[in-house]
Amino acid sequence: MTQLPLRAQLASALGRTAATLSRATGRGDGSVIGGRVGLALEPDLLRKLAQDRKLALVSATNGKTTTTRLITSALQELGDVATNAFGANMPAGHVSALSSAKHAPYGVLEVDEKYLPEVINTTGAGVIVLMNLSRDQMDRAGEIWLLAQKWRRALAGKNTHVIANADDPLVAWGASTAARVTWVSAGQPWKEDSWCCPECGGPLDRKGMEYTPPGGHVSGMVTSRTAENDWACRECTFRRPEPSWFLDDDAVIDPRGQRWVLDIQLPGRANRANAVVALATAETFGLPVQRALPRLREVTSVAGRYTTVQRDGRHARLLLAKNPAGWLEAFDVLDRSLPVILSVNAQGPDGRDTSWLWDVDYRVLRGRPVYVAGERRLDLALRLDVAGVPFQLADSFEQALAAQPPGKVDVIANYTAFQQIRSEFGRAV
Ligand SMILES: [Zn+2]
Repeated sequence: MTQLPLRAQLASALGRTAATLSRATGRGDGSVIGGRVGLALEPDLLRKLAQDRKLALVSATNGKTTTTRLITSALQELGDVATNAFGANMPAGHVSALSSAKHAPYGVLEVDEKYLPEVINTTGAGVIVLMNLSRDQMDRAGEIWLLAQKWRRALAGKNTHVIANADDPLVAWGASTAARVTWVSAGQPWKEDSWCCPECGGPLDRKGMEYTPPGGHVSGMVTSRTAENDWACRECTFRRPEPSWFLDDDAVIDPRGQRWVLDIQLPGRANRANAVVALATAETFGLPVQRALPRLREVTSVAGRYTTVQRDGRHARLLLAKNPAGWLEAFDVLDRSLPVILSVNAQGPDGRDTSWLWDVDYRVLRGRPVYVAGERRLDLALRLDVAGVPFQLADSFEQALAAQPPGKVDVIANYTAFQQIRSEFGRAV
């Protein structure tokens, strides 16, 4: 790796010092402040830190933190990897991540969807990973179309290799200007933001379609489940690109048609989809499935997600759900035999508008004890009442937890509610 210019070295070192001070004074992990200090001293620092590294950028509405972690874990098989493990996914966080692993030949960076074009341009990353696009609390579907359009412009004319989910029409559209794309069939359970063709606005057909796998060589192995993910515009030629990697229930099918059982420790369909994307990405770095997969199995929790906190014999497993698509993924992970506590806030990072609660189908929760907490518990209570889901209201998460019999309970919380529970209940176990 070439030596950084003196100014960039100084900016990088001072940024690290600021991060250390921030940590020492209990102001968080310091990755954002450190990066800001570095960028203030050397605005070109991110580009300088990125050059000469093999970089992957990971973006999506849901799953980017987890997938970043999975890819990082896989690439550690090849050497040191710089990564923004704390989810600081804007340029200051990227500066901090690369600065604190100066000599790592690899980098895997989670990137906020809105910042992706800027970070692609600045870092010149060779690999871009795109998984799903759906509305966040604050966003409406029109805005995610604009976002995909910006991705298209940023990818056009660059020598990048994109790994993209072919099952999400908006992602497929956003990725299709790239010079090279590896298409992955990772599924798309949440379809409410993509009934229209992003190219022409026509209706998308999604079922009753004949499906032939690439070359036909995996026929008989690809189940009807993967064919269900096919889609095509009724009014123009835009349709699902042919995937070369497939998530098939609890397994991945690689481009050679070989089936590998995933058996990763992270729960649920969404994490199996993340794992398939991570394996496809690892292969672009020259790492075959048989070496990458054992590394994915080592990941047990990501930034507090899926960890358990406990008090007085109650063991609460924490699931984060930040938007309608995320709630659908969390429902998939729930243990049907356990009670569930739902906690919803509406602070800045959550989005102040809770109307998105009406987009989620809560009827799946019928038949198990449901407790409702969080600052906006009354909004959620009304939503559950209309859906015919019996529930009990609690003044706080603590009270909801105390109401449980000793043993296990599942918790689904949105962003600040999740962070409150983590800080209040201390170290996850
Ligand atoms: Zn169309």
